[in-house]
Amino acid sequence: MSISDLLSSVKQGKLLNKDEAIALLNLDYKSQDFYNLLSTANYMSRTEFDNKGLVFAQIGINAEPCSINCKFCSMGQDHYSLPVTWRKNIDELLSELELLIADGINDFFLMTTADYPFSDFFQISKVIRKHLPDNIRFVANIGDFNLETAKKLKDIGFTGAYHINRLREGIDTTIKSETRINTLNVIRAVDLDLYYCVEPIGPEHSYDELVTEMLRARDYNVKVMAVMRRIPVPSTPLYEKGQIPAIELTKIAAVTRLVTLPKRAMNAHEVTQMTLLTGVNQLYAEYGANPRDTASQTEKSRGFSVRQAWDMLWEAGYGVSK
Ligand code: SF4
Repeated sequence: MSISDLLSSVKQGKLLNKDEAIALLNLDYKSQDFYNLLSTANYMSRTEFDNKGLVFAQIGINAEPCSINCKFCSMGQDHYSLPVTWRKNIDELLSELELLIADGINDFFLMTTADYPFSDFFQISKVIRKHLPDNIRFVANIGDFNLETAKKLKDIGFTGAYHINRLREGIDTTIKSETRINTLNVIRAVDLDLYYCVEPIGPEHSYDELVTEMLRARDYNVKVMAVMRRIPVPSTPLYEKGQIPAIELTKIAAVTRLVTLPKRAMNAHEVTQMTLLTGVNQLYAEYGANPRDTASQTEKSRGFSVRQAWDMLWEAGYGVSK
């Protein structure tokens, strides 16, 4: 089947298989087919998502050396590169949350490093939940957990969890894929929405590896999908591997959108305008600690603000509902 016929059949509901997805990832940037790919992903998002843009905000609530020691993360304990360590208290979090709500967000994420005690996280989350309007979804981005913890998250009022099997899990991280997959399964078991991402993508990853994660997301029926390129953080072990250019991230976002068919939103991170032409309708604003940043308040460095995110969606012609 030609690429043009393949893309037409996706619009009509065909599910892409691994070989087909890899063929799309191999398209040359100079070819007409490449732009047909971007156009198909763009068309599907704009029609299926009613041309609606979404902004999610995440606060990283602690900056501390993390024992999982991911080779790309500024907070890995063997190469910790933030200038300080801290944990935000509930008062700080509530004042930040108030500002985010005022600027208009659709989903709110609380992120911790993997060693942050669950009991402290539960305490903070219960208070946050009381201050979060019901129309804003509440998402946990924490270390691996079991069924009991998943139930607890649900009881507190979380609506979803961000969790992934990272690229080269167990090689570039110290977590086994089985552990990640157990967590994905308990998220599904308690009916929390799973937020998934192909990440952190570097120049060394094969298309086969990327598509494996796309197909995993589709198997879990993910409604909010994302792709993220790795930011080479100085002092991290993977720094020398560099990063992929925005046009490559754009292509990967397009293929991911077509393979995973998310029902609610598609994201590419970190924020780049180019990806908004290929089906990305959702952006993340980031505050506090961030594995891709050496500044401990990412909102003053790499992090995008809620207002910047809404402005960029507007620039791309998305309806904004802030
Ligand atoms: S990416 Fe997350 S799990 Fe890995 S070292 Fe950083 S904080 Fe820990």
